[in-house]
Amino acid sequence: MKVAKVITHIVEAPVSEPFHWAIGEASSRSSCVVEIITDTGLVGWGECFGPARPAAAMVKAYEPWLLDFDPLATEQIWQNLYASYRDQGQKGIPICAISGIDIALWDIKGKYFGMPIYQLMGGPLRTEVKAYATGTYRKRDGDPMDYIADEVARYKNEGFSALKLKIGFEVDEDLALISKVRDVIGPEMGLMLDANHGYDAVDAIRLARAAEAFNIGWFEEPVSPEDLDGYLAVKSSTSIPMAGGETEYTRFGFREIFRRRAMDYVQPDTCAAGGLSECKKIADMANAFGIRYVPHVWGTGIGLAAALHLLAVLPHNPPGRRPWEPILEFDRSEHPARQAILTVPIEHKRGFVNIPAGPGLGIEIDKQTLAEFTVD
Ligand code: CA
Repeated sequence: MKVAKVITHIVEAPVSEPFHWAIGEASSRSSCVVEIITDTGLVGWGECFGPARPAAAMVKAYEPWLLDFDPLATEQIWQNLYASYRDQGQKGIPICAISGIDIALWDIKGKYFGMPIYQLMGGPLRTEVKAYATGTYRKRDGDPMDYIADEVARYKNEGFSALKLKIGFEVDEDLALISKVRDVIGPEMGLMLDANHGYDAVDAIRLARAAEAFNIGWFEEPVSPEDLDGYLAVKSSTSIPMAGGETEYTRFGFREIFRRRAMDYVQPDTCAAGGLSECKKIADMANAFGIRYVPHVWGTGIGLAAALHLLAVLPHNPPGRRPWEPILEFDRSEHPARQAILTVPIEHKRGFVNIPAGPGLGIEIDKQTLAEFTVD
């Protein structure tokens, strides 16, 4: 079996109402979807996180190391792709492109052997995962104290046992919102904070110390991703665990985070950090360093399915009668194509999501809908 064709689809759709977070705003959602076709007619799907057009260009640049190669040789292909642009491509878009390709190859591998990816990656430690709701983005108009209070009440009613609140704007305003959200959801529900690296260490430390009163699960991206010393400063000032890593890449990038123990939870994005092959390695390193792993997920149903297969095989650390279980980031913000491109959407039931059990990623792409969302 050989790779016969590599196709990229720029999936893009405007959202009904623009929404923002500490450092950016979304008026549309887009993804680079990767389709790899073999000479035997098998088709695999993958997704690259991050800017879609540069990722698609980079996927195209990798074609010489894909066409006519055996798609089952995922390790060899990963090494070839990484080596081909290593000197200028150790992080960022080149690795996002490898990620989408690698996920598509694993989808082919699963379909070839007639098994879900998690079966080929060691067999499942779990077949469903607890999901937390990601949302609480800001609108251009209205008072967040009102509309975010309504939003988090909805997540509680839907059965989620945890949610993540966006902060990173202004410390006192953020603290007032944290207090309000804790009031609305009650003392039991898990509450995590995500500053999207909108603070420096001074503000992050002030926020963290005051937020300790609200029983916070983790403090995500308190400071800029390059500033590991900043992470360590915040970490040493508070009992709230540090989370981050959605903009870090490969085992080589995460090695530094692990070595310095800058984070308590690492959040590699499967569609960015190197794909399933690489993220399994990062997860095993996290396990060796005693650091928790929670995949970052913010794309279409393809990226969501890939994260679920990885979640199925994440090792317990340590194993025990009631070990800590990894949790799925379930993005509730508007993304018109997210579930629409799947023939069967991946939904939660009272805050739990089943891991797709069909061959490969266990999803089918609705090619008609995909075409409707695809722009040139
Ligand atoms: Ca985040």
